Amino acid sequence: MHKALSILTFFLLVSCTTEKKSTPLYKPGVVISFDDDYVQEWHDLDVAMQKYNWKATFCVCYIDSLNPKQMGQLKKLQSKGNEIAGHGYKHKNARNYVSKKGLASYLKNEIIPMEMSFKKNGLILNSFAYPFGANTPGIDKALYKHFKMLRRTHSASKRLKENSCFFVENSKTVTGLGIDNSYQHYDLDYFLRVLNFAKKNNRIVVLYAHKPVQKVTGTYQVDYKTIETICKYVKENNMQFYTLSELHQFLPVNIK
Ligand SMILES: [Zn+2]
Repeated sequence: MHKALSILTFFLLVSCTTEKKSTPLYKPGVVISFDDDYVQEWHDLDVAMQKYNWKATFCVCYIDSLNPKQMGQLKKLQSKGNEIAGHGYKHKNARNYVSKKGLASYLKNEIIPMEMSFKKNGLILNSFAYPFGANTPGIDKALYKHFKMLRRTHSASKRLKENSCFFVENSKTVTGLGIDNSYQHYDLDYFLRVLNFAKKNNRIVVLYAHKPVQKVTGTYQVDYKTIETICKYVKENNMQFYTLSELHQFLPVNIK
């Protein structure tokens, strides 16, 4: 009797464990994010990428300098399923600011006014992208009280093993891979290999860019061809578009 029971328990345990492993929490996919205040360009891009059923995260700075038209466009982007995230009230480098003036001053001048402005304008604020990608573990810890997810940036290496531009399930901070055309590491085939790696290994890639343009004329620009090629790959390979704060649901309870 006891033996039969323990054998049964053993099989139950094994089948539960197996089931857990074979059911991933999420589909492989991508978070595409855009930084700064190129609201008109983001709006136009969103219209153009609708055919891929995409969604993106737009990380806005200088929010109180936007005109009513731009504010309306941000709200429209949000209502269509995109996320509007914070990118600093005045785009200050958090690492430098905190080391010179302290954390309390940083929160008072860069985070709180941004939160108030989002609220005043009817925008939901769940995530934050560090200007210049400049974080520290100490600032991360303070900002976890304000945001569901944080994004820093990463100087990309061509070697996938060293590349950390994937969501990791034990951190509310993700590292984005820059896809602006002016970046030294820019290589569309490489970006597709990263997406392919994500597809095969059930990972979520985090990408960031700035101003979407038809034709690149300077730095901080990404061309439509890059975004479109990525969106096409995601759609054709049955991968998922995520917003930054959607990653929060996949974190374990002790991290949330
Ligand atoms: Zn920026």
